[in-house]
Formats: sequence, structure tokens, C-alpha cells
Amino acid sequence: MTYKIPLFNLNFDDKEANAAVETIKSGWISTGPKCAELEKMFTEMFSVKYAVSVSNCTDSLHLCCLVCGLGPGDEVIVPSLTFAASVNCIRYVGATPVFADIVGPQHINIDPCDIEKKITPKTKAIIVVHMAGFPAKMDEIMQIANKHHLKVIEDACHGPLSEYNGKKLGTIGDCAAFSFFSNKNISTGEGGMFITNNEEMANKARLLRSHGMTTMSYQRAGGHATSYDIVELGYNFRLDDIRASIAIEQLKKLKPDLEQRAQVRQYYLEKLSNIENIIIPFADNKEFVSNYIMPVIVTTDKKKRDDIRNLIHSTGVQTSVHYPAIHRFSIYKNYPSYLPNTDYVTEHEITLPMYAKLGHDDIDYIVDTLNICING
Ligand SMILES: *Cc1c(COP(=O)(O)O)cnc(C)c1O
Repeated sequence: MTYKIPLFNLNFDDKEANAAVETIKSGWISTGPKCAELEKMFTEMFSVKYAVSVSNCTDSLHLCCLVCGLGPGDEVIVPSLTFAASVNCIRYVGATPVFADIVGPQHINIDPCDIEKKITPKTKAIIVVHMAGFPAKMDEIMQIANKHHLKVIEDACHGPLSEYNGKKLGTIGDCAAFSFFSNKNISTGEGGMFITNNEEMANKARLLRSHGMTTMSYQRAGGHATSYDIVELGYNFRLDDIRASIAIEQLKKLKPDLEQRAQVRQYYLEKLSNIENIIIPFADNKEFVSNYIMPVIVTTDKKKRDDIRNLIHSTGVQTSVHYPAIHRFSIYKNYPSYLPNTDYVTEHEITLPMYAKLGHDDIDYIVDTLNICING
């Protein structure tokens, strides 16, 4: 079934296609000048010193764990209300995820109080996820991290150009990961970015991205190097120039796209304010954010969330759930997880359609439908 109103819409036009074709015709399609151009653009737009392009955000998170020196015996505090990659990356390096709860339905990001409760002598880092692009409570989290000498990794997948006290998300902790998966704010199919202000971390990430090799093919093809050494056990986490050239076009569109999304959110907030039995997370946020998704929490006890979703879908509106909590998945069922707020939100959240071109008439239709499905 194709939905009348999808959850998400790509903002592609001829620019992305033309950029990809140009790169293909250029004769250099793997990591090269387009990746370098994209990285430079990223550092400028995100006010960060170093950007390393990677094949996806999962690899970027893996790199974050590696450059933070995490390994076996270390504990890393992470929310359960996130995508699996935010937690799996901890296990890739042999460390142990420790779940912390979210603040509540009004603020569905990790709770600084619960972080403090979960700290043990083994705790080495915190992974923060900025849900929907709304900032986690970074002042409190950085204070806790400084007090206990913990690294802070930002999974900033949802929040490109989102701000917290005027700082861009992803530039507050030690390092951060972004995704260019198709349904993210910057879309290239697959792709991602690692960013940091720490030179040592940036160098290590760059090395580990490509097998721990001291030179890249592009440098050798240009005659800038003729051989290489392998100095670390690295990976192949590289982005290619075809996708990088698409990402460059996407970055050019990012700010205006997010400005339109902010208008969409504003109209949603007005319309939703007339509806009973829902909570809108981050309703009081005043800063510029990416509005990656539009989550609402349904508070009625009379109907099940999944029944409400099925009703909405039958009217041609696609919805989603962000997220099925990680601690409930089979491979995490043996991890300690007393997470009442996460449990509540994972059972009551519905993600409504969100994209720049979503019209007022569409939002009227979505919200009227939602109201009937919840309260009708
Ligand atoms: C999409 C997403 C990821 C994974 O990104 P990929 O680029 O698909 O690897 C990780 N964390 C969060 C919060 C995400 O939304």
C-alpha cells in the first residue's frame, strides 16, 4: 500500500542526480576530492574542527567508541529509547552498555539524574542521543562527565544544525556521529560523518576508517605517496565520492529545509494544542532544531497505541514508532533495565509525518484523523 501522506519525503531534485553523474564521469568514484570537499563543508557548517566522512553512522559510532578508548571491562551509559546502533557500537569494542532512563514523556532524552545513579567505578563514557533533533540536557550531562572523568559521545543522527545554548549538537561532547541514511535530514542512501574538536581523535578516526593505512589510494594515484604502512587494526568505513557529491548537494539544501520544517512543526503545535490525551515532547523548546521527526505521546488508556496506529494507517497516513526500546529486544533481555519512563514512551509514542513540503492541508488532515482515532 502506498500512503496518501508518507512519514518522510526525500527533497531530491536534478541536483543530486547531476552531481552523482558528474562524479561518475570524473573517473574517480571512491574516497577522494568529493569526500574532502564534503568534510570541509561540514566543518564550516557545523563550526567544528575535524570531520571524517564514513560509510554510515553505525561505523561513525563504532569509531567514536574506539577513539574514546573504550574496551572490555568498561561500562557505557546509554538510553534504551534509541536505534539499535547507539547501543550495539558499545559491544563492538567489547564494552558493556548500561541503560539509563529518559526524563519523561515531555522530554524523551536521557535523564541526567538516572545517569548519575548508573555510574560505577567501571563507567567510562556516556552516549547521548538527541531524539528528533532536540537537545539532551547537555549542561547537566557535561557536568556529570567532568566530575567523573567520563567521555561523552553524541549520537547526533537526528540533529544536524540543531542548537543547544547556541552550540551545534555534536560539538559539545568529545565526538559525534551523523547519518546520511535515506530518511535522515541529509540523505545519500547510506553515509555518515564523524566529527570532533580533538585533533588526536580525528587522526585516529581517519586512520581506523581505512585499515589503519598511512596513505589513501587517492593520494597514491595523485603521486603524493607511493607506499603505505599499516599502523593500527583498522576497518573499511570509507564513504565514496559518488555519495559524497550527493551529500554536498544535500548540505546546500539543509538550512532552508530545516527552516521549512520548523514552520511545519509550528503549525502542528497549533493544531495539536486543541486535542486531548496527547503530550508533545519538547513542546517548550525555543532553539533552532532539525525537526527530524514529529513524535507525540498518546496518553489515553481506552485504546491501545497500535490499534490507533492501524486506524490512522487505514486513512492513508503513515506513522512510525521511535523507538521500540532496545532493552526489550531479544539480544538485550539479560541487561538490567528498570526504565519506567522509557517503557511508558515506547508503548505510547506515535511518530507523525514530517518533511519540509508537508502542507497545512496535510497537517489538518493528519491531526483531525489523529483526534478521531484517539478520542472518537
Ligand atoms: C539512523 C540512526 C543510526 C544509524 O545510522 P546509519 O547511518 O543507518 O548507520 C544511529 N542512531 C540513530 C539515533 C539513528 O537515528
